[in-house]
Amino acid sequence: MAFSCQFLFLFGLALVGLTSGRALNTDEDVSPRIGIIGAGIGGTSSAFFLRQLYGPKVTIDVFETEKVGGRTTNIRINAQDYEAGGTIIHKKNKYMVELARKFNLTAYDNRGGILGLWAEDGIRLQTSEWTAITLAKLVWRYGMDLYTARHWINNIGFKQFSRIYEFQDRGMAFTTVEDMLRAMGDDLLNMTRYTMNEALRGIGLSQTFIDEYAAAAVKDNYGQTVEANGFLGVVSLMAVQPELWSIQDGNKRMAEILLRESKANLVKGTVNTVALIRDDLGTGGVSYELDYIKGNDKKNTESKEYDIVIVAAPLNEQTKNKISFAEFPRDVVSFKQEYHKLVSMFVQGKINATSFNVGSQQECPDEVITITPNYFFNSVKKVSPVSPNTEPETPFKAEEAIWRVFFNKNPTQEEISKLFESHSDLRLVDWWAYPEYRAGMDLPPFMLYDRLYYVNAVESAASAMETAVIGGRNVALLAFNQWHGNFDKIDEVQLPSLASSSGDAEKSEL
Ligand SMILES: Cc1cc2nc3c(=O)[nH]c(=O)nc-3n(C[C@H](O)[C@H](O)[C@H](O)COP(=O)(O)OP(=O)(O)OC[C@H]3O[C@@H](n4cnc5c(N)ncnc54)[C@H](O)[C@@H]3O)c2cc1C
Repeated sequence: MAFSCQFLFLFGLALVGLTSGRALNTDEDVSPRIGIIGAGIGGTSSAFFLRQLYGPKVTIDVFETEKVGGRTTNIRINAQDYEAGGTIIHKKNKYMVELARKFNLTAYDNRGGILGLWAEDGIRLQTSEWTAITLAKLVWRYGMDLYTARHWINNIGFKQFSRIYEFQDRGMAFTTVEDMLRAMGDDLLNMTRYTMNEALRGIGLSQTFIDEYAAAAVKDNYGQTVEANGFLGVVSLMAVQPELWSIQDGNKRMAEILLRESKANLVKGTVNTVALIRDDLGTGGVSYELDYIKGNDKKNTESKEYDIVIVAAPLNEQTKNKISFAEFPRDVVSFKQEYHKLVSMFVQGKINATSFNVGSQQECPDEVITITPNYFFNSVKKVSPVSPNTEPETPFKAEEAIWRVFFNKNPTQEEISKLFESHSDLRLVDWWAYPEYRAGMDLPPFMLYDRLYYVNAVESAASAMETAVIGGRNVALLAFNQWHGNFDKIDEVQLPSLASSSGDAEKSEL
């Protein structure tokens, strides 16, 4: 939705409040009934922040068709659990860090070991277990590019990105991803319009750095190439900085605890339809009916009524649990979000050293990321279990480990044999993992209709656990501000004052 349309819409709503002689829903006794579709980190964080904003009275139902956690989930191999979806969290991911601390979740260091960048003709660059040697190798190969990239990541990446926390701590919300990025910094919004290759060349980085270091960052994190958009480039390069961690027992614990703390009701079911059943322009009030399949029995359908509905699951073409929108006067999903297929393969086995041009398994890096576009795999990584105090049921044979391989399609038997000399277990997990990040792609709205919100719009900027929480909090604030007629806290940007007061920014009320 264009900014001007959005503005007119909000202006119209404000006018309704004024002409009827009152602001909308200022009566504290009027508590909305809230329905949230999806119990991943986005949906559960929305529930958590909504509870903080509205207090104990409101009813919040969270619908989930599969497991709480969504794309954060564990896979069990040989009696130990491994992360099968979202894995890495950065120390500068403010919400994930603060929430983990608040809920007493234990973090474990997940930096990985020795890394090799693989091109078809061999390993281009390999890190060392000694930091000084790794640094020397990086400086030798990329020279000043390392400094330029780091400076850019700190100034454009972390600095502009962190403004969203200031906005949200002040209760401000955005109706579209475009408005959110513009408020964070024009540079970030512009990045979505260029390819990563163009953006990095624009700041003077060499083609060698782009084709190797930057290509590895985006391939490993998003299965894509430097033809993805520049914003994803910033996020991918932020994600290869040191200081990476994960939550002990699985990142899904975050969604489980957010749900518990929100005191929302978990409804096990699949929502088929969101129907607009009342659209009263005179008062600005709407009601929705959610039709859902209860449990797994397709014949067992029920419906429930809500004043506010939050969609916290991707509205992409490929999704298997498609939600339809009925009785709306216009199309509420007028944007396109195409998702990237990713296959995660887990094996307990011995890596094929000859395929990586090394003499033995010990000489093989712990993680190999391919930098050749369209190569048959994206990355191969030795992984550790999420719970340190567990033991495998069957002891590992010599040189055996659990490896996770990312592919952009299902691997053939021949490809698996190329990667592994032998294996005793093999699992495949299919994902519609994150959007395809093209330059100039649609940036969807957070507000689909009056009091109908979409958390996963945020994924069009970048898909990550941290951005899911940012999307969840934005939608909670948007719902609350609109319910109470706080229109000055929606899409109102006061950058100069925020910038000057950034030193004494209010402490987050997580
Ligand atoms: C393989 C992989 C690796 C990743 N690695 C990282 C990483 O290292 N670091 C990082 O930060 N992020 C990573 N991500 C991204 C991160 O996991 C996601 O961005 C984040 O978990 C998305 O959360 P969400 O709540 O928005 O969506 P989801 O987790 O997808 O939650 C949506 C939920 O809605 C449910 N649902 C869907 N339709 C319906 C319906 N009709 N009715 C009821 N329920 C419904 C689904 O079952 C699901 O549980 C990775 C993702 C994948 C797939």
